[in-house]
Amino acid sequence: MSKNYNFNDPENLMMRVTILYVLLMAAITLNALAQQSNKDLQLKTFHSISSNQLMEYAAELSSNKYEGRLSGTPEYLEAAKWCASKFEEWGIQPANNGSYFQYFPNEYSEVKALGSVVYFNGDEKTYLDFPEDYFPGSNSASGTVQAELVYVGHGITAPELDYDDYKNVDVKGKIIILESGTPYTKNDETLAKWTPYAYHRYKFRNAVKHGAAGMIYVSKLANPNTVNLEGFIYAHVDIKVAEKIFTDAGKDLIEVRKQLKDMETPSFELPTEQQVFIRAETKYFPEAQACNVVGMIEGSDPELKDEVIIIGGHLDGQGKMGDVIFPSALDNASGISDILGAAKALASSEEKPKRSVLFILLGGEECGLYGSKYYCENPLFPVEKTKLMINLDMVGNGTGFFVSGGKTHTKLFSHFETANNTFIHREMQASAVQKNYGRPRSDASVFEDIGINTFSLWTRNSVYPVYYHHPMDKTNVLTPEIMEDAAKLLYLGVLGVANDTKL
Ligand SMILES: [Zn+2]
Repeated sequence: MSKNYNFNDPENLMMRVTILYVLLMAAITLNALAQQSNKDLQLKTFHSISSNQLMEYAAELSSNKYEGRLSGTPEYLEAAKWCASKFEEWGIQPANNGSYFQYFPNEYSEVKALGSVVYFNGDEKTYLDFPEDYFPGSNSASGTVQAELVYVGHGITAPELDYDDYKNVDVKGKIIILESGTPYTKNDETLAKWTPYAYHRYKFRNAVKHGAAGMIYVSKLANPNTVNLEGFIYAHVDIKVAEKIFTDAGKDLIEVRKQLKDMETPSFELPTEQQVFIRAETKYFPEAQACNVVGMIEGSDPELKDEVIIIGGHLDGQGKMGDVIFPSALDNASGISDILGAAKALASSEEKPKRSVLFILLGGEECGLYGSKYYCENPLFPVEKTKLMINLDMVGNGTGFFVSGGKTHTKLFSHFETANNTFIHREMQASAVQKNYGRPRSDASVFEDIGINTFSLWTRNSVYPVYYHHPMDKTNVLTPEIMEDAAKLLYLGVLGVANDTKL
């Protein structure tokens, strides 16, 4: 027996409400299921990112065959080719007119031997040890020099600022003792006047202009960000060495540094019995070329694909000195490995990015931000269509994240915060973009300068010692777990930004 429904019956009104309720619930459930399956799709890829694989990338990039990836060397170009081969394997497209490479001039010097540095104080003779006491100059000229010493502080001659470190000393034919930086360090407008004098290259040229024969730089690290000047032989020394030389001269380095900070130009000539001998063996390659590696995933949305999100980091390292390789694992094989992990995930992701994603593995960072400057002068996507550039540098040692720029570009950053809060649960701190009045020191600042929103991502709360620009910067100082989480954060965060239709 069938029943005739009369919806005007009070009895059947209840039935009508129930049916509507059921339909509504079904709609909600379907929507939730759709969202859920999106989330499932994301999570499937998310969980495919493994620390094991990222550590394999880091081990490859840090391996001896690439000799520390000094930008401009054949070994750097080999490392670049290896990265491009991974892009190709994962179906990431070449982004430069069918090529994965964007070439630019990149002069460099090869340090062929560790050379030697000897300190004389009258009859006392001290052979300095590598790497404890000294590092060869990455761009030193070849040859030997022995001479008396002159301390020249920051080595700056700035008449318009009424400042001259050379005013009371004669450095002709002598070896100068130089400090890095400028006397004014506060990050405000005043600093901008000092910025041209903050560059190592300026200081070296100024020393040569004043007739110095050589130099010991009181900052012991490998630093390719200098200039090769004919006949100018130098080495970097540890602060302990400088302290000993000062003590022998009857001076206190800490006291002198205070005067330097107060702009009192405390330069002085040391007693003649104090001398230094430097032997350097290098080869200069003025015509060398390096490249950025550029790969892209075209956006899946017909309109939004014209817009792009850039993920970048520097591929180059500090090279080698004699037979000693600087694996440059944390700085920055870690960042590149995280990018490769995220790239593979984004390329295989079943949820496709609506906007395009450009991966750029930058060259020449250690030589002076060459790769980022070249890209920003020759962008592959219009700057106004570039929604965000995320730079990764030293993202592989620690337990937490830091995102510079996160507090400025809050809408973009919310995608990374959500990813972290929902799935990763790491401590994540952020700061606003702060205008830098000093010497630009990161690739992100070059992109920021042409008007692109940037995030700089790095890891904090180091678990292992940080061997900055040191041969001990090997893969054993990497924390695999944070690398995995960095790649996962990139994957979800970038997907979030790429698919945000309300940007
Ligand atoms: Zn770096």
